[in-house]
Amino acid sequence: KGTLYVVATPIGNLCDITLRALQILSTVDIIAAEHVQNAHKLLARHAVQARIMPLHQHNEARAAEKIVELLKDNKSIALITDAGTPGISDPGAWLVHVAREQGFQVVPIPGANAALCALSASGLIAPHFFFHGFLPVKSGERRRKLTALKNLYACILVFYEAPHRVLESVADMIAVFGPAREITFARELTKLFETIHTCALGDALDWLQADTNRLKGEFVLLLSPASKPERETDISLEAEQMLMILQKELS
Ligand code: SAM
Repeated sequence: KGTLYVVATPIGNLCDITLRALQILSTVDIIAAEHVQNAHKLLARHAVQARIMPLHQHNEARAAEKIVELLKDNKSIALITDAGTPGISDPGAWLVHVAREQGFQVVPIPGANAALCALSASGLIAPHFFFHGFLPVKSGERRRKLTALKNLYACILVFYEAPHRVLESVADMIAVFGPAREITFARELTKLFETIHTCALGDALDWLQADTNRLKGEFVLLLSPASKPERETDISLEAEQMLMILQKELS
């Protein structure tokens, strides 16, 4: 039986791909890619030659059927999208569902993801995060979704947003969460003009509009939890001394 590999690709910097991903991409029979041209660009950068077939939002069901046939034929397939991890605000979830349902092995090859990349360098502190992905396009619906998330406990909210909608989405966030909540803009991650900026929601529109470049590129938006973070208290000196004594006794 064939195997389906779910392979994460870079979210900007083409070097952000793992050795294992490159090894899989160069050995599978076929790569299913969101855009064939973008896949060629990535593969050419790493001197990988491969047969590529398209699998995108509009043909995923049909492409999944074809891929299942190939898997039955003992072929190995790698699934990639234009950026980051397949199935995360990207096509792929249906193919994986169908492949697993039919008993094929599905192997994740982890790597870049814009949400985790933004969270890791944001400086926001909270025990939890909630990944929402893209918000609705219409303001009314968007505000309803945001309102539903308002009382999530101790949770950073993570959104993806298109550059031409950032201003209106931020305006709705101010309306729902109030001006004091902090927002982090994680823009153009891993690229030349990478920007990670945190400010109060009340200052966010001014910051965005102060430089037209700030409204260009790709965005992850992170909203901090309602209350200010506190560092978890270090264990007391007494407890630390006790631990040292115990460690000594045990060694
Ligand atoms: N599958 C991808 C992942 O694992 O992150 C997400 C794909 S989704 C179609 C594209 C969205 O991800 C963009 O609109 C943006 O919100 C976010 N994104 C992707 N690359 C980014 C980058 N380099 N910097 C900031 N956001 C990025």
